[in-house]
Amino acid sequence: MPDLTVEHYPVCESARVWSTTVEGITGRHTVTWEPGSEGWNYRCTCKGFRFRRSCRHVEEARKQHCNWNGFVKGVSEAQECPKCGGPVFIQGYGV
Ligand SMILES: [Zn+2]
Ligand SMILES: [Zn+2]
Repeated sequence: MPDLTVEHYPVCESARVWSTTVEGITGRHTVTWEPGSEGWNYRCTCKGFRFRRSCRHVEEARKQHCNWNGFVKGVSEAQECPKCGGPVFIQGYGV
């Protein structure tokens, strides 16, 4: 069995750790992007999210989340995120 080749791609910092505050009718809530049981997930601090696993805040936050990934886009060189202009980090992917 051949070994996996690891290639390195730039990934937006917002795809590693990210959170934002969303102002809603029930107050101010924090939406966080973090690892979960099914990969990376959005979580919200509001009650609705706890019951339904989704809420308006997550939908709102998702629109603001850059989450740019050079591996997905086929871009192997970037000094900064081409989408949001933020910092990138280098992630290795087995191909
Ligand atoms: Zn919420
Ligand atoms: Zn970005």
